[in-house]
Order: sequence, then structure tokens, then C-alpha cells
Amino acid sequence: MRCGMCAVAALALALGVIPAAAAASTVTVLKDARLIDGTGTPPREHTTLVIEGERITAVGPASMATPAGAQVVDLAGKTVMPGLISDHSHLGLVDGTRADGANATVANIERQLRQFEAYGVTTVMSLGLNGPVFYQLRPQAHAGTLAGSDMFGADRGIGVEGGAPPVKVQPDQLYRPDTPEQARQDVREMAARHTDLVKLWLDDFHGTLPARMSPEVYKAVIDEAHAQHLRVAAHVYYLEDAKRLVADGVDILAHGVRDRPVDQAFIDAMKVHGTWYIPTLGLDESFYLFAEQPQLLDQPFVAHALQPPLRQQLASPDWRQATLAKSADIATNRQSLATNEHNLKTLYDAGGKIGFGTDSGATPLRVPGFAEHRELKLLTDAGLTPLQAIQLATQSAAGLLGLSDRGVLAPGKRADFVVLADDPTQDIGAVDRIDAVWHRGREVSGAVTAFQP
Ligand SMILES: [Zn+2]
Repeated sequence: MRCGMCAVAALALALGVIPAAAAASTVTVLKDARLIDGTGTPPREHTTLVIEGERITAVGPASMATPAGAQVVDLAGKTVMPGLISDHSHLGLVDGTRADGANATVANIERQLRQFEAYGVTTVMSLGLNGPVFYQLRPQAHAGTLAGSDMFGADRGIGVEGGAPPVKVQPDQLYRPDTPEQARQDVREMAARHTDLVKLWLDDFHGTLPARMSPEVYKAVIDEAHAQHLRVAAHVYYLEDAKRLVADGVDILAHGVRDRPVDQAFIDAMKVHGTWYIPTLGLDESFYLFAEQPQLLDQPFVAHALQPPLRQQLASPDWRQATLAKSADIATNRQSLATNEHNLKTLYDAGGKIGFGTDSGATPLRVPGFAEHRELKLLTDAGLTPLQAIQLATQSAAGLLGLSDRGVLAPGKRADFVVLADDPTQDIGAVDRIDAVWHRGREVSGAVTAFQP
């Protein structure tokens, strides 16, 4: 096979770059699938989906006519659901066993985007701690010329000197303003770079950090962001902080409230202000999950998400022993998860606006792709049905990001979807049994056992 375009295509594949013209004007028909469309509607059996280029153009019954010349894919017995969307992850912070801003290289971010995609997460919001590499890659991700998930981001974000976030990053990956005036200037810089959101941190990490952001600074951040037509997502832990931020107009709570049960005043305020809530249930569990359940490491679904040095560390008896020895911390984390689950269910039942995220990529223990599947399971532990959990991770997560082109499988939407061997509405564990992932109308990967992290 010798032709100019083939050579270009082969080179592009070798570089992990998708030729933009490759997907154009192909018609694909998926036959006889069980369709979960992302809206919370129960699965529809024997569905036909027509895909042209990057979009779905028709959804109908099995009897629907197949366009002439279309490529037909038989999905009898399989389930199709929208690609997952993480509203809270971090790109370029973790490589192997370390979290460090120096890991924000093109190659490392591409590696993570490919991993997210292979695990069915086709859109990722990198919620803060992003440096210049983010802006180098975002246009390529949006244009479809970069392999892996589509990416959005919250620029550097606003922390506080001596306080949150307690991470090792470069000066161009995080602001720590002293005054409201500085904070406003920082927000204007992020607006000039066309950030997707503004992030701030309000927490003392269980009292371990001496400094907290002052109300004057976070009010200035929210006010200036709104003046720049940007929305603000805030890292929180405590109910009192969450209440103040909601009253002061924050748009998104980037974590669940985990210190105590939410009360009616908070629920009412969330609804009056239309504030979004990202529970990140798996965050607190991540500290102890692999130490308590080492058998997880033997599951191919987990093993293929772990870079070799990380897998080696998690499998080591020394690491396990040292982690389990921090029993007071584990008890706190376990209680935080239980409170988070309770609050999520309470807010969900009250009709709150709930997104989907995991904080994957913030530490090596929050593993891209795996974390999102774990989060779906934890949402069902909290009392949601599998269908409700999937709706949060698809339609609702897209809504939080203001993306109307994805999150739902319907005519006009992007053909971003996961093909599963079984029906996850019967057992949420079936979301792990990935047969294939399609992104922008193309099959981009198969079972995760073919993925090398
Ligand atoms: Zn985070």
C-alpha cells in the first residue's frame, strides 16, 4: 500500500495525531444496540444510530432504513451510552507515583487524555493548576487533531500563600494573591487567556494548613470573574464555607460538603442561586482504597490504568502497611465519604443541580478513567439508581460545563460514546466491561486490556 496520503496517515498515527479529513463524510450505522441516551430515559432495545462525520444524524428503531454505502456495525446484545464527562479532574500534574507541576509536559498530558478516552471519558475539565502547555493543547483537542479526550480547563486558579492548595506547582500554574486588588488582576489575566472557568480554593485540609483565603479575596475573585463573564468553581470541604460562597454567588461547588449533613437553608440557597455541585465521592476513598483492597490491582480493568511504577508502589507491602497505619486519617476519610454520600443523595432528591467529577489526576491515587468508573459505583452506593448515576456523568456533567453538543446521544450531537458488553442499568459494574470507545464518530479504542498506561 503505497500512496502519499497513506504515508501521511501512518506518520500521523505514529505521532498520535488524527488526520482531520479522515472522519469527514463517512456514514456509519450502528445496528441493534441497547441505547442509554444520557437523559435518564430507560434503555431502548434494538436501536439504530446513524453517524455522519463527527455527529449523530438519526436515532431510530431496528426497522430504520440503512443509507446506501454506509458502513454497518452490528451491536446486537451490546449497550451504547454517551462518553463520560469529568467536570473535575487535573491534567499534567501526576506522572507515575508523583504529583508535581513539572509533569505538565505535552507528552504527559497526551498520555492522560488517551487514558481517559480509553476508559470511556471523552471530555475532561482540568479544574485548575494549568500552565502554558494547557493553552498549547486545548485548541488541538477541540479541533480533533490531538489523540484522546477533549479538554477544558480553569487556567491556574486562585489559592492562598501558606494555604490551599497544598501542591507543588510552578509559579505559572497557580496564583496566590495577598489582596483583593491582586486577585482581580489575576482573574483578568486568566480571562485574557480565555479560560473556561475560574477556580478558587477555600479549605484548611483538616486544619493542617495555617492560612485560609479571606472573604475579601474570594469575593473579589467571584465579582471580577462575573464582570469578565466567567463562572467560578470553588474547592470546599466545610458546610459553613460552602454556605458563604453560595451566598456570595459562586457558580460551582467543586467538591461535596463533607464535614456535616447539609441543612435546609443550604439546600434552599443552592436552588435559589442555581449553584452546581460536584460531589467527588471517590476523593476521600482514594486515600485508602488500594491499601484496603489490594485485590483490585489484579483486575485487568484496574491494572491497565496504572503506570508500572505506580502499580509497583501500590502492590508493595511496605506502602500498604504505611498507608493502613494512618488509621485516624482513614477513619476521617471514611466518615467524609459517608457524609458526602448522604449529602449528595439529599441534594439530588431536593432537585439540586449535580455534576460529575472525581479530582482524578490530582494525586497518583486518583487514577484517570478508573476513578470515574469508581465514582459511578459510589453514586449508586449513595442511593442513586445506575441510570441516575449515568445521567449525572453524561447529560448533567455536560450541562455544568455549558456544553450542549454532547452528553446525550441524539440527532445533532457529537458521536462520543462507549460500547459495553452488558447493560449497566442492571448492574453498574457493567460500565467497566468496555468493548469499544467512539469519539467524534470514530472508533478510537477497544477493550481497556489493549491499553498500555
Ligand atoms: Zn481538584
